[in-house]
Amino acid sequence: MQEQSESAGPAGPGDDAVTDDFGLAGVPDAFQRLWTPHRMAYIKGGQHQFKNENDCPFCVAPARSDDDSLIVYRGRSVYVVLNLFPYNPGHLLVCPYRHVPDYTDLTVEETAEFGELTQTAMRVLRKVANPTGFNLGMNQGVTGGAGIAGHLHQHVVPRWGGDGNFFPIIAQTKAITQTLGEVRQQVADAWPQQAREQSGPGETHAE
Ligand SMILES: [Zn+2]
Repeated sequence: MQEQSESAGPAGPGDDAVTDDFGLAGVPDAFQRLWTPHRMAYIKGGQHQFKNENDCPFCVAPARSDDDSLIVYRGRSVYVVLNLFPYNPGHLLVCPYRHVPDYTDLTVEETAEFGELTQTAMRVLRKVANPTGFNLGMNQGVTGGAGIAGHLHQHVVPRWGGDGNFFPIIAQTKAITQTLGEVRQQVADAWPQQAREQSGPGETHAE
């Protein structure tokens, strides 16, 4: 049993601890370390902070086919898309169609659908990939770590024991990119049934 790890941060969870060092909030050093690869990928792809809808990937995506944009579900005011640069396989983003930056910008209707689709995303991922945990979260503003700060998006990241090890994080971009199309298809195929069960009567959580 390893008591302390030099790189584990102030709280110092050892490698034997549940791999929960991916904290979206409250663990600044882990946040920085774990999310930097994504931001590098965006930077290499020519990404920058988008000023308006014309060059915003979250605004452009719905105009293309589901396959091309990796969309798994289109709702009334909110849609769900596979992250092009996932932290884990099945890393989904829940986005309003409207180009608004802040959670408080959502209307009541958008907020409801945003929550509903986040729940369905979790259900679908549980069904197709059996994750043992999730990270949900929104990075608000550039300071808050948002890669695309101008367009609100909620991360839904499935987690499995051991996935927080350093090596998979470094290696993830290449390994996961090759299967994005397959993952999108799996999630999209499983979506309708999970959405029905979610809205159906008397459904209880199976686990
Ligand atoms: Zn946008």
